Amino acid sequence: MEARQQWARKTDFYMQLPKVELHAHLNGSISSSTMRKLIAKKPHLQVHGHMTMIDKGKKRTLEECFQMFQVIHQLTTSAEDILMVTKDVIKEFADDGVKYLELRSTPRGENATGMTRKTYVESVLEGIKQCKQENLDIDVRYLMAIDRKGGPTVAKETVKLAKEFFLSAEDTVLGLDLSGDPTIGQAKDFLEPLLEAKKAGLKLALHLAEIPNKEKETQMLLDLLPDRIGHGTFLNTPEAGSVDQVNFVRQHRIPLELCLTSNIKSQTVPSYDQHHFGFWYSVAHPSVICTDDKGVFATSLSQEYQLAAETFNLTPSQVWDLSYESINYIFASNNTRSELRKRWTHLKQKVLGCNEGAANDDADIRWSFVVNTHSACVGIPPASTRPG
Ligand SMILES: [Zn+2]
Repeated sequence: MEARQQWARKTDFYMQLPKVELHAHLNGSISSSTMRKLIAKKPHLQVHGHMTMIDKGKKRTLEECFQMFQVIHQLTTSAEDILMVTKDVIKEFADDGVKYLELRSTPRGENATGMTRKTYVESVLEGIKQCKQENLDIDVRYLMAIDRKGGPTVAKETVKLAKEFFLSAEDTVLGLDLSGDPTIGQAKDFLEPLLEAKKAGLKLALHLAEIPNKEKETQMLLDLLPDRIGHGTFLNTPEAGSVDQVNFVRQHRIPLELCLTSNIKSQTVPSYDQHHFGFWYSVAHPSVICTDDKGVFATSLSQEYQLAAETFNLTPSQVWDLSYESINYIFASNNTRSELRKRWTHLKQKVLGCNEGAANDDADIRWSFVVNTHSACVGIPPASTRPG
């Protein structure tokens, strides 16, 4: 089979793979096409594409990445902007084969447009509702994010809002995220509001150990027993204390949200093969492949799965399991988990191949097996009968 054709069908496999996305920031997920619409609404800001997206092969420092988010925030200042970006981002994830999405975003007020933190949240929820009414094949939930930059006062207000919507928004608001520039603020300032949220039944997804030498802060956040960890990049480093932290995370089976391209492009990880996915996957720890900011980092969840598979030599069957097991770590109810598992089971044969499970450990051979059987399953003529 011609290499190009094989490549195209591999890509098709990752698109067809049903996926769960658990770590996606709304503003960082805005695609270049939506960005063009926003830029056209605010030409006076003179924002250009390279200011909001890192092209293939390019890198930025973490600091520069956070500057990019500030530029994006200048483009999403009204309730209408938030509604539009929410709907566009959800549609793009659905087009990429994501069946369940937990979208996270920091409620933000803007005096100039009259948008308040509350109307921000309402706009996100309205976007989710409208997508549901349009029967998009994706189940979307919302995690309210605390930006470290806002400090404890704003964090408390966000928790208050989250508690309010947790009760009123019919299982859409499920938890809280702690994120933002990890060099700003101190974890101890957020412990009280995060604990309050946890007591109210909200789940916690906390960014931690994103940068080195933060063992003390990391331990404080781990002591909250978060429901999931964002990145955890420097948990397994040779520094003193980190062995204990790795053991802690493993003992408590706290799932990790891992975002390969994000870490490479923001230079917290030097190369794909050195990504900590390799370590956590090798010890069979709950690991979920996510995008973080698909717009800024110019990626998709399908692409992230493909990168993980090709970097760490995963077979199609292992890729399937990685996606299927992600369902265990969603914040929605057991009912939703069961529904998703049924969907996956229903799709398995079609996506993985008619005779999935052939006893052959060679990933490449299995690949050609899978792409051929996959073609047959979905009615695509085999490569030999197709024009090149
Ligand atoms: Zn993140």
